[in-house]
Amino acid sequence: MAATRRPGRNHLFVPGPTNIPDRVQRAMLVPSEDHRSVDFPALTKPLFQDTKKVFGSTDGTVILFPASGTGIWESALTNTLARTNKVLTSRFGQFSHLWIDMAKRIGLDVIVQEEAWGTGADPAKIEQALREDKNHEIKAVMVVHNETATGVTSDIGAVRKAIDAAGHPALLFVDGVSSIGSLPFYADEWKVDCAIAGSQKGLMLPAGLGVICISPKALKASEALRGNNDRLAHVYFDWEDMMKQNPAGYFPYTPSVPLLYGLREALACLNEEGLENVYHRHHVLGEATRQAVAAWGLKTCAKEPKWNSDTVTAIVVPEGVDAAAIIKHAFVRYNLALGAGLSEVAGKVFRIGHVGDLNELSLLGAIAGAEMSMIDNGVKVTPGSGVAAASSYLRENPLFKS
Ligand code: PLP
Repeated sequence: MAATRRPGRNHLFVPGPTNIPDRVQRAMLVPSEDHRSVDFPALTKPLFQDTKKVFGSTDGTVILFPASGTGIWESALTNTLARTNKVLTSRFGQFSHLWIDMAKRIGLDVIVQEEAWGTGADPAKIEQALREDKNHEIKAVMVVHNETATGVTSDIGAVRKAIDAAGHPALLFVDGVSSIGSLPFYADEWKVDCAIAGSQKGLMLPAGLGVICISPKALKASEALRGNNDRLAHVYFDWEDMMKQNPAGYFPYTPSVPLLYGLREALACLNEEGLENVYHRHHVLGEATRQAVAAWGLKTCAKEPKWNSDTVTAIVVPEGVDAAAIIKHAFVRYNLALGAGLSEVAGKVFRIGHVGDLNELSLLGAIAGAEMSMIDNGVKVTPGSGVAAASSYLRENPLFKS
C-alpha cells in the first residue's frame, strides 16, 4: 500500500542534503530583492569573511557560486590548470571516481592511485609518486577528504606532510563537500590550495551554493595562466569575474539571494555552537552509530577504525540481503530516508548520514528505524540492540564538552 501522506516528520538521514535548522529555513523566507541595490553588500560582504572560518582559513579567498559541489570541482580544476597538465589522485569511492572522470573529460592527464573501497588516500604512495616526478610535471594533487559513498575520511594533514616531504610544488585540491562545517578542516594549516564545499551538508542549507576557498598560491597559478591558449576553458566558473565584483559585495550574475540569507544564519548557528563543539558533536554521533553497527553484528564499509567518518556510516548488509530493499522499506514504512549504496557497493550497503543539524534523540530514531527495516527484511538483528548500544554510549559521552 503506497501512502499518499506520511504523517509526522520525515527522518532525513541521507548524508546530504541534511536537515535545515528552523531558524535557517525562516531566514530564507525573504521576498525577492535587487541584487544590485546599494543595500545588498550589507548582506554579502560579511559572508565572504565569515565563511572562511569554516574552512579554517584567514589567508584564503572565498567565492560563492550558484552551483553544487560538482561545479566547484570544475571551478578548481579549470581556473588553475592547462590542457594535458598532470594531476595525481586516488580513487576509493564513487565521489573520488567522479572527480577523476571530470578531470579526464576536461582534458587533464590524470594519474590514478587505486585504493580499496573502504580505505582512503595513502600519503606514502602520494609522496613516492611526487618524489619520482623529478621535473615537477604533476601540477596538482586532488583528494576527497570524506568519501561519502563509503564513509571514509582521509588524513589531509598527512597528505600535506607527504607533499612537503617530497619537496614538490604541486597544488593541493581537497573535496570537503561532506566534511567542511562538520569535520575538523584547517585549510591554512594544511596549505590546501582549493578547498571545495557545497551548501547542503555541514552548512545545513539546501543545495545550490558551491563554495570554494582559494589559497594565495592557487590565485597566483590562476593569474599565471591568463592569456595561455592551453588554459582549460571556463566562463561561468571564472574566479576573476567573481573577484572583480565580490569585494564590493556584488556578483557577475544573479545569485540565489535566499541561499545567501540562509548562509548568514547557518554561519551564525555554527558560530554560536563553536566549530570545535560542532566537530566534537559529529564525532560522538559517529561513534554512537558505529556502536550500534557493532551491536547488530555488522561491519562498516570503512576497513579500519582510522578510516571511520564522523559524518556518514556505510553499513555492509549480510550476503544475500538487498540493501536497497532495506532503504526502500525504511522510507515507505517508517518515513526514514537512509542513504543508498552507490556504484560498486550498490545493494551491498546502506548509509546513515549523521551530518549537520542533529542530536542524540534524532540519531536514535534513525538507528531504531534502520534496525526495524533490517529485521523486516530478514536480517538477523536483535531488536533494540543497536539503540541500546548507541544510547549507552551517548549517555556516557555528552555532545557538548562543557
Ligand atoms: N563530493 C562529495 C564527497 C560528495 O559527497 C558529493 C555529493 O554528495 C559531491 C562531491 C558532489 O556534490 P554535489 O552533489 O553538490 O554536486
